[in-house]
Amino acid sequence: MPTVPALGTAVAARPRPKLIPGFLAALVVLHLLAVLAFTPYGFTWWGVASLLVGNFVFGSIGINLAYHRLLTHRAVEVPKWLERVFVLCGVCSLEGSPLWWVLNHRIHHQKSDDDGDPHSPRERFWWGHMEWIYTADPARNRLSTYEKYVPDLLADPFQRWLHRGQKWALVYALHALVIGAIGFAAGFLFADTTERAVQVGVQVFLWGVVVRTVYVWHITWLVNSAAHTWGYRNYDTDDRSRNNWWVALLTNGEGWHNNHHAAPRTCSQGHRWWEVDLTFTFVRLLQLVGLARNVVPVKVAGYRQKTDPV
Ligand SMILES: [Zn+2]
Ligand SMILES: [Zn+2]
Repeated sequence: MPTVPALGTAVAARPRPKLIPGFLAALVVLHLLAVLAFTPYGFTWWGVASLLVGNFVFGSIGINLAYHRLLTHRAVEVPKWLERVFVLCGVCSLEGSPLWWVLNHRIHHQKSDDDGDPHSPRERFWWGHMEWIYTADPARNRLSTYEKYVPDLLADPFQRWLHRGQKWALVYALHALVIGAIGFAAGFLFADTTERAVQVGVQVFLWGVVVRTVYVWHITWLVNSAAHTWGYRNYDTDDRSRNNWWVALLTNGEGWHNNHHAAPRTCSQGHRWWEVDLTFTFVRLLQLVGLARNVVPVKVAGYRQKTDPV
């Protein structure tokens, strides 16, 4: 869970990022709660199945499509109302406000694996994976940095509303309450005993909210860590980005990360026929029903396409 400064907050420059104990504690608590889902009381195969659906709705649509391809790269356009719905799915993944997420990702593309990259695993894998999340970098928390990298989002009242006062976190809490309430309601409607009803409610909450949140966190972070460490390269980009098939599988398409660095605005991240990108398949479906337009095609300029993996 990231640090999200109030807009306009001036933060004194510090030489190194600083640990944020509150965010680290939240990360630890959710990870510990997630372990409960794998106890005999918390485990259910329905929960495992719901994880696939939850990952698609909140991870693939919310983060991959809304936060990443729509807001960060403008790789496709959808009606504003639908963009808002998709963005709210992303908010329910507890990866920070769209303003904060897009800011960091645009900086990542500008400085990939170089000084100033928020999460390069160049020196330490763990830093690139999740350590950077629970540290504050004063240089990135300045309003001037937001004005430089995300002026388009700052101009959107909806985005400012989500960011101010950490309302994105309140939206997350609200959705967690709603899913938990649905779980307990289902338990009391269909279970034979009170004990079983409570167990169903706990299981729905654990799998529908906690495990799914932790899962989407890690697969998102694997794009920053593993897909900058292991895999093959189609393009000779000036960073360490890799096409990593298992990260692509877990994230429904975001693991073809060398392709993405070679052509950041391209909507499809799979550039070869076997590089399956289910997030892009969803964009194609939206296009078919008239809900997506201006899909940016595969267009790679300035990079030599490699014939052999490295
Ligand atoms: Zn990258
Ligand atoms: Zn990107």
